[in-house]
Amino acid sequence: MVFEWHDHHFINRVACLDFANTVVYRNRPERREDRLKSRADLRAWLAAAGLPPGGRSALKDAIALRETIDGLFRGIAAARPSADREWSTLVARYRILLGRSAMKLAPDGLAPAMANAPPLALIAHSAVALALSPLLGRVKVCGGCGWLFIDRTRNRRKRWCITAMCGSRAKARRYYARKTGRLVQS
Ligand SMILES: [Zn+2]
Repeated sequence: MVFEWHDHHFINRVACLDFANTVVYRNRPERREDRLKSRADLRAWLAAAGLPPGGRSALKDAIALRETIDGLFRGIAAARPSADREWSTLVARYRILLGRSAMKLAPDGLAPAMANAPPLALIAHSAVALALSPLLGRVKVCGGCGWLFIDRTRNRRKRWCITAMCGSRAKARRYYARKTGRLVQS
């Protein structure tokens, strides 16, 4: 069965982070769910993300890129020293994926031309661009579902990807724990 992607799976509207978020609950191994299980899932994700279909993109290459992206930004969000290694891997993958794709001048800098760039190159480009932008310091890990998100709030104190979802679940857990004296896992 092909996973059905909806708008709320694209909370960042930044391809690299939304791509990393095709795994939910990375922070809780017992609940971890990988939603990219087949090439059909990948094709459906690319379509929902507004990226070109990329006929030859192998699932294994997509997963390898996704894990490099996730490792880089999750590592930076947690100030882990492994970021150097992930960055080198990302740049190497970007170089290979980009191949001979033409670059065009976009409002926020050079970008691969959509028409002939493989979709994974566009995702890798979004990761390189984010890593070199001032937004990097705003990348965080949701305390609920483990998704990566950009905290665009003025005071930079956002803790949840979507407060109405993960924030209220955490609140409900605390409430239940107070009522029953037990700490519940979810
Ligand atoms: Zn969340």
